[in-house]
Order: sequence, then structure tokens, then C-alpha cells
Amino acid sequence: MTLYDSYGALEKLTDNTGNKPPDRYHEWIRMCREWFHCMLLKHGGRAVAYDPSGVEGTVEGELAVRCLGCPRPGVNLPEGWEKASPEDRFLYTLFLALDACFRLKRRLVSSELRDPDLGSGWAYMVTTAPYREYLRTVTDQKEMNTCSGLAALDYANTKFSRGYATTGVGMGVCGRHEFVQPNGVGDLQKGERFANIDWIFASILKHWPAHLAKFITYDIVCIWTVNLLDRLKNLPSHVRLTIVLTLLRFAIPKMHIHSHTLICQLLFSLNWLLGSAQLEGEGIERAWSSLGAVAACTRDAGPGARHDMPDAQIAGWNWGKLVTFGQSLSISAV
Ligand SMILES: [Zn+2]
Ligand SMILES: [Zn+2]
Repeated sequence: MTLYDSYGALEKLTDNTGNKPPDRYHEWIRMCREWFHCMLLKHGGRAVAYDPSGVEGTVEGELAVRCLGCPRPGVNLPEGWEKASPEDRFLYTLFLALDACFRLKRRLVSSELRDPDLGSGWAYMVTTAPYREYLRTVTDQKEMNTCSGLAALDYANTKFSRGYATTGVGMGVCGRHEFVQPNGVGDLQKGERFANIDWIFASILKHWPAHLAKFITYDIVCIWTVNLLDRLKNLPSHVRLTIVLTLLRFAIPKMHIHSHTLICQLLFSLNWLLGSAQLEGEGIERAWSSLGAVAACTRDAGPGARHDMPDAQIAGWNWGKLVTFGQSLSISAV
């Protein structure tokens, strides 16, 4: 629920006879934000008792709750996994799903100076300063829409941007388990620009080894992947990647693919990708349903609060998945 609604409930619990208690709404908002931030740090083990560098020593994406089901060399893979036979290689493939959501807008209020992030880039949002600097440099990127099926989508996405500093967010989750990725969420300023999604994609891949095979699903993959490698090569050093091209495969989620042209349906179908099993790639839509709940709280927030709130919400989403993982993946539950 929104902080406004939760505060209203507290007021009623304090005195429900019609006498309004002293207004502490703004104190409540600030207190909640500080509490969310402290809990992220606490859950991430950023205390001097665990690490002498304490809070200051937190690195990018460290406070994110990671997926236990995805293959992570050195964490949950057997020795010699790189030498697996071709028919077993699907076991060591990472599935990532990218998408954008336009519910999460933010009006043109406040500023980064007045309202900075608490720990920018420490959990799920991308680090603000280098992301903003990069977007400033990308002004003339040509984005050709070569797929006729996406024309209506294009229009819908760019329609309501007046008066908004942020028109939505781009995000990446693991395709099989829907865990939001560390540094996998970034603000959009206008429609679904490739520059934004490129940065978010590169920020996610920084947390994964280059020699791990990856399947990427994204509903506009047919147009996004044109010149993608050239664009990735030109990214600033902060997110520049070593890409092993032969280990990357791209596909369109199974419901979205129906609105694409026939050639896209032939080139980007998950049904034709060896090792994709029965992945449908639409899992990110379910993560949006959780994150969308903070849209009302963050629409009039300053830029810092706007980043801290989704971090807290996503932490709840990932944690909820983690603690029910055994139950939801066990054979007996099928
Ligand atoms: Zn996963
Ligand atoms: Zn297409």
C-alpha cells in the first residue's frame, strides 16, 4: 500500500473517534525511507562486525538478494561444468528477461541535490551518476523500427511524457525464476530508448561471468539487437563488457511474439532455441505487478526517494521468492 494509506491506518489506530492526531505524515515518510535503507544494509551484512569497511564499503549490487536457481560458477555449479556435453549445456545457461514498464512515472519535482539516493546502485537500481552522464551523451541514436507489428506500441509508449522527469523503468529479471537482477532497474526518460536498455543490460551482465551461456528474452528484441554489439562496445568503462558472442542467444517471449511479423516469429521463437525447454519468457510481467504497487508513492517523489522505494519493494519480492523456493520447485509440489 502507499505510505499515505499506511499513515491513515496508523492515525485511525491511534484515535478513531474523529479527533485527528497531530500531523506527522512527512516525518513518517522520512522515517520509513531511512528504515528501509537500514534494513537493506542489515540484511546485506554491511555491519562493521562482518566487514571492517562497514556501510561505506558496500559495492554495486551487493545488497540485492540473488537467485539460488540460476547457474553461478563458484556458488552452485559442479567442478568441470564448462566441459559439459552439448546435451547437458542447457543446465549451465542463464535466462534473462528484459522489459519496460510505463506505470512507474515520476513528475518533474525536486532535484538530485535536494533529494539524493541513499546508497546509489547498492541494490537493484543502476548507479545514478554514471547512468545519467551516459544518457546525456546519447542524443542522436537512430532507432529504426523495422518490425511493423510494433508500431502501435511505439506510439503508446511515448504518448504521456509531458511534465514527467521519468516516464517508466526498464528492468531485467532471471527468466526462469523472476528474481530482479542486481543493478537491473533503471529510469526511462522517453519511451523505451535503446540507450537506457543497453545500460541496464550491461549493468546486469557485469554481475555474471562472460563465459556463461545466456538466453535473453525481450519483447522488442528484433529491433533492439540490430547494432546492439556496436552500441555495447561504445558504452563507458563503468559498464563495458567482455561479450562472448557465441554464448548469447536472443528470443521474444511467447505471448508477445504473436504481434510480430512472420520473419520475427521465425528468427526469435523460443520454440526453435535448443535448450530453452518450455520457457515462455513472460515472467517479468509478474514482477511488474509487484513493483507497480509503488507507482502511486513514487509519482510525486524526489529522485532519491524514487530510487530507494523500488529497492525496498524489490527486496521484498526477491526475498519472498527465495524463502519459498524449495516449496515451489520441489517435485512433490507438482
Ligand atoms: Zn534465477
Ligand atoms: Zn519483430
